[in-house]
Amino acid sequence: MDRYCTKCGHLTIKQSDNLYVCDQDHQNWINAVPGATVYVMQDDKVLFGIRNIEPHKGKLNLPGGFLDYDETAEQAAIREVKEELGIDIKLTSFLGTYTDDYEGRPTINIMFIAQYTGGTIVPSDDLNGGEIVWRDIQDLPTRDEIGWNWYIAAQEDLLKWWQKSNSAS
Ligand SMILES: [Zn+2]
Repeated sequence: MDRYCTKCGHLTIKQSDNLYVCDQDHQNWINAVPGATVYVMQDDKVLFGIRNIEPHKGKLNLPGGFLDYDETAEQAAIREVKEELGIDIKLTSFLGTYTDDYEGRPTINIMFIAQYTGGTIVPSDDLNGGEIVWRDIQDLPTRDEIGWNWYIAAQEDLLKWWQKSNSAS
């Protein structure tokens, strides 16, 4: 895809996956944009919503989004769940980070686990049109049911985390 210089607007030429340079020698670095995403869990159930906007409209989605200016990943995770589900959560675990691409920009998704402790779930924002879906951890969505590639790697780690957490005792 064509990328234009953020300083002068001229077309840039790709030097590497991370670096694009224009005819004025302005360097445009393509760094990953950080986002925070949460698996909200209740016992062995995992909360998803049905996404109501493109891209991936109609697919199962997790609450999350890009970090605001000067916001930590933990703060963003809590804020996004409040915005998209209407509930307050306490993060219980950090799962990992996952790379992907969002409309031509690299992203790094910072993934947390939280326990659902109550409160009325009111889906809003881009999560869905009013429907939430609880999935058994042994029956996580297939690739066809989800929008983002990186969910698959995250799900595998979530399952490992679950098995480890439940075999400790
Ligand atoms: Zn330039």
